[in-house]
Amino acid sequence: MLSSVFKIVPFFTIYSILRELIRCYSAGEKFSFGSVKLLVVITAVSALLYGVCAYASAMLSHGAAFDILYDLRMKLMEKMGKISSGYYTANTQGSIKKLLIEDVEQIEGFIAHSMCEVSAAIATPLLTIVVLLIVDWRLTLVSLLPIICSFIILAMALKKPDGAAHQKNMADSKAKMEGTIIEYIHGMSVIKIFGGTTNAFKRFERDMNDFTKAVHDTAYYNANGMGLYYAFFGAQVLFLLPAAIIMLNNSASYSEVLPKVIFFLVVCAGLKEPLENMMNVSIDSTKINVGLRRIDDLLAEPEIALVGEGRKPESFGITFDEVSFAYPGSSVKACDGVSFNLPQGSCNALVGPSGGGKSTIAQLLLHFYEIDSGSIKIGGVDIKEITHAELVKNIAYVFQDSFIFNDSIEQNIRMGNDKASIEEVVAAAKAANIHETIVGLPEGYSTVVSDSTGLSGGEKQRIAIARAILKNAPIVVLDEATAYADAENESKIQDAFSKLSKGRTVIMIAHRLTTIQNADNILVMDKGCLKAMGRHDELMANCELYRNMVNANDRRDSWSMRKVEKNG
Ligand code: ADP
Repeated sequence: MLSSVFKIVPFFTIYSILRELIRCYSAGEKFSFGSVKLLVVITAVSALLYGVCAYASAMLSHGAAFDILYDLRMKLMEKMGKISSGYYTANTQGSIKKLLIEDVEQIEGFIAHSMCEVSAAIATPLLTIVVLLIVDWRLTLVSLLPIICSFIILAMALKKPDGAAHQKNMADSKAKMEGTIIEYIHGMSVIKIFGGTTNAFKRFERDMNDFTKAVHDTAYYNANGMGLYYAFFGAQVLFLLPAAIIMLNNSASYSEVLPKVIFFLVVCAGLKEPLENMMNVSIDSTKINVGLRRIDDLLAEPEIALVGEGRKPESFGITFDEVSFAYPGSSVKACDGVSFNLPQGSCNALVGPSGGGKSTIAQLLLHFYEIDSGSIKIGGVDIKEITHAELVKNIAYVFQDSFIFNDSIEQNIRMGNDKASIEEVVAAAKAANIHETIVGLPEGYSTVVSDSTGLSGGEKQRIAIARAILKNAPIVVLDEATAYADAENESKIQDAFSKLSKGRTVIMIAHRLTTIQNADNILVMDKGCLKAMGRHDELMANCELYRNMVNANDRRDSWSMRKVEKNG
């Protein structure tokens, strides 16, 4: 606001100097610099103060903007850990990335830049109009007339019934297109193989076309109103010049009116910019409103993590009691009245056909989703009464396709326990049979993992196991990887699994039945129901589904490729 004041002052002082100059010229006097010395000083000081104030406002607003950006991102990250995993199924990876990166950054841009512009955009035109009124109220009215007309036209254009709907449609289709682009890039290897026939490519093309159409529709819809608005908005000179000529013709003294005319021509041309800024600010705020709505929606997602103290389980047996659950938006129960009790320290395997509900059980134990009915308890304590931090502290989860962060291997393992010493990290890596591979890399434990590091799926999983070993959690959930590169890798992983499992309550999602025959409990899952539970021998005797699976597994293990001779 202050910078706007200091920005206007020089206009006024220069007008006064100009008036003195023209007065001297028409009176035939010699112009004396002494008569305008004070005005020159005021002009220089104002210009300087304008610079100082503008700089200070930019500094303050950027500081505030980055503080807010930080707080908001932290709040969103925290929130994302507390909501149901259904959110991640309902929203594409691309749209979540866009929310966390672009939408939040737009707010930064708005606070750092537009906020200052808002105050300048309001103060500058108002102050300019005051100055203009002081100089000559008639010329002021004439020069404001086209602006008033343009605003009336704009207001009428904005009030058109479908304007907001068009803007929303444009913003939504842009967000959708950007989400698809990110996914498209992620899936590039698949797309390269299947070319333009994949759904991803079709979706990509469709979303681009939808966005182009939305932009065209909005532009055509606004064409008349915006065209007229711009035509009037820049037309001050067209109105001012005839009025000035009439005033000059009717005036007794040229030297009175001429400086005013020159002043108005210069200042009115400059009035356009702050007024346009005012317009841009309102356009920017509509744009960030769409992003804000998405941020608000995420912040309003119901939290499933417990807030407050919570209870700490003393022991680590796991009980599912009549647990039923369907994924959000799905009518099929992925878990249908499942009950079991896994004693502390037992080794348990979940088996069953694909889609039977094995991974769902593991995810429900981690409280990724809220169950529809029943209860899940650890050491007799309902997981709903355990805080998120306590729950993740007690469970180590090794995913089938474990995510390795773009960070050093040391840090990737240390994620299991950020206070661990390098010796403990190395010990965990040795137990997970991955130490030799790590020291063989050019920078050993400091090697930053990227696509070019060349770690195989099995090696990545062993890093994930080292992470879990370091975590030293009393409950371990293992999703057995199906695609081992070779027999050596497989035996190393099995060995690492058994070291990780020792003395803990283990749930292993087993895709191959040979590895689990010694488990204390084998739970057979099919279509979301627990069909049977027991040791291998018991199930072989009593459970037909299990028997069939084991037999099929044996057949698969003895499978070999042979050439079929054509008849004749
Ligand atoms: P398994 O691990 O035994 O292969 P899952 O637990 O992954 O089986 O799946 C059980 C059922 O839940 C399947 O019908 C599957 O299609 C469905 N399902 C799995 N994940 C989701 C999800 N994120 N959203 C909707 N349905 C899902």
